[in-house]
Formats: sequence, C-alpha cells, structure tokens
Amino acid sequence: MSGHSHKINCEACDIEDEVKVDGIMDLAKALPRRWKRRVINFRAYILCDVCGHPRQFTKGCSPYILDALDLPPNATCEIEEIEDFRGHPDNVTWRRERQRMKK
Ligand SMILES: [Zn+2]
Repeated sequence: MSGHSHKINCEACDIEDEVKVDGIMDLAKALPRRWKRRVINFRAYILCDVCGHPRQFTKGCSPYILDALDLPPNATCEIEEIEDFRGHPDNVTWRRERQRMKK
C-alpha cells in the first residue's frame, strides 16, 4: 500500500479523524465515512458526519452550524442529498455525538 494517513479536523466541532490518502488523491474525495465537504456562503468546509449531517441544513443552516463556523444568520448552503437522508439510520450516531458535545 502506498497510501499514507492524513489527519483531518471537522471545521465546526474540531473532532479529529484520519483518512488514507493515496497518491495525488483529492483530500475532499478521501473524507472519512459520512464526512462531508459543504459549500456554505461560497466557501468549502470539511464537516464530520454530525456537523455535516443534512439535518443541520434542512431549513437553512442550523444555529449550531452558524455559531460553530462563525457565519452570518443569512448564510446559504448548497446541499443536495437532504431527501436521501430521510429515515436514514444515522440517528444513533447523531444522538451519541450530541451527548458528547453537551459535556
Ligand atoms: Zn463536527
């Protein structure tokens, strides 16, 4: 294997994960499972599975995202797969992460 590990941080909650980058592979395409690259207010952010979850963007950006990324209240996001996530079994992960963040 020629790939190497690359540390990556969520830009909202700063949780860290590792990705294996192979050669000149684009980092944005090598994100950990369910991590997302979201374009918000015309800037790209790397977000973890929690912060980048479509739930954060169903009616515009959530207050949490706006606060975490220091965005204005009228920030716009481009997200396409909201429909896909209806009924998605990601809710377990979601709840676990919410618990963690309350500490
Ligand atoms: Zn995050």
